[in-house]
Amino acid sequence: MINLKNLNYKELEKFVLEKGWQKFRAKQIAKWLYNKKVKSFQEMTDLSKDIRQTLEKECEINSLQLITYQQSKIDGSIKFLWKLKDGNTIETVLINEKNHKTLCVSTQVGCAVGCRFCYTTKDGLIRNLETSEIVDQYINVQRFLGESEENRISNIVYMGMGEPLANYENVKKSVQIFTHPDMCKLSHRKITISSSGILHQIRKMYEDKDFPEVKLAVSLNASNQNQRAYLMPISQTNTLEELMELLRSIPLKPGWRITLEYVLIKNVNDTPEDAKRLVNLLKKDKHRFKVNLIPFNPYPESDFERPEENRVLAFEKILWDNNIATFIRWSKGRDIAAACGQLRKKELLQIDV
Ligand code: SF4
Repeated sequence: MINLKNLNYKELEKFVLEKGWQKFRAKQIAKWLYNKKVKSFQEMTDLSKDIRQTLEKECEINSLQLITYQQSKIDGSIKFLWKLKDGNTIETVLINEKNHKTLCVSTQVGCAVGCRFCYTTKDGLIRNLETSEIVDQYINVQRFLGESEENRISNIVYMGMGEPLANYENVKKSVQIFTHPDMCKLSHRKITISSSGILHQIRKMYEDKDFPEVKLAVSLNASNQNQRAYLMPISQTNTLEELMELLRSIPLKPGWRITLEYVLIKNVNDTPEDAKRLVNLLKKDKHRFKVNLIPFNPYPESDFERPEENRVLAFEKILWDNNIATFIRWSKGRDIAAACGQLRKKELLQIDV
C-alpha cells in the first residue's frame, strides 16, 4: 500500500503517469488530499470510478488516529495525541498566538539527541516518522478545527518530538508538500525548522537546492561550551564555537533571522553572567539573530527547576540593553503539560492528566 501523502508533487505526477493516467490527475488528487482534506478516495468525485477503485485497492491516505486531546484553560493551546499504524504514539501542539495559529509538529517517535532537560529523549529514539505522518498532523488538526479563516493554521514549527534534521528526507518532503502551490500552499516564511545543532545536517539543508527555503531555529540553551556540552551532549562533538561560526556564515534572505532557543533553567544557565556571556557571543552579528527565552517547564522526575519570573525578566533585560532582540516564551499550555513528550508519557504510564 502506498500512502499518497508520502509523495511530493513530482512523485505524485510520476505515480499518476505510471498508472497510465493523464498528468492533470495529480493536480486533482492533490486538491482532494490537501485542500479538501478528504478521508476517503470515494470523496474524490471528479475522478473516474475506475481510478477511484484502483486508488482504493493500492493506496491509503490516513496515517494517524486521534487518541485524545486536551485544551489549556490558560491560553487555549491544544495538545493532540495520535496513534500511528504500528501502535506508536506521537504528539502535536496547536498554539493560539494573538493573530494566528501555529502548529508544532513531531518528526520522530522519541529522540536520540539526549538533551538533559527534555522529556522526549528519556526512552531514546524509537523511529523516524514518515512524510505522511508529519503532514497528517497538520491535515488532521486543520480538519479538527474546521476551515474557517479564523481557524486557519498559518505557521508550522518543527519543534515537537524528535530532531527534525535527523529525519532529513521525510522532513524535507513534508516541507515540499506544505509549501507547494498545488498542495498545502503555506508560506515559506511561516515554516521554521528547529534543530539541536547538528552541523553537517544544517549545512546540507542550506546546500540542498530541493529543500524549500524556510526559517531556522537552533537550540542554544547555554552561554559557553562546557555548559552546553553538559545540557546537550550533542555539543561535545558539534561545539558551540563551530555552531556559531556556521550560523554566522549561513545566507539569509532579507529580513530573515535565525532564532536561538534558550531554555532557562534555574541556577544552571539563568544567571546575569550567563546573559552577559550570551551578549558577547552574539554582539558581532546582532542583526542575524533573535533569542527566544523559554522558562523551563518541569515534569515529574525532572532534575531541573523553573526560574522565578524576576530572574527571567532580568535575563531578558540584559539582552535588550545590549540591543539583542529577545522574546520570552512563557510555555504555552502549562496546565496541559505542553512541553514535548509529556502527554504521550502520561498516556503510556496511564496517569490521569
Ligand atoms: S530537546 Fe529536541 S533534540 Fe533535544 S532531546 Fe528533546 S526532542 Fe530531542
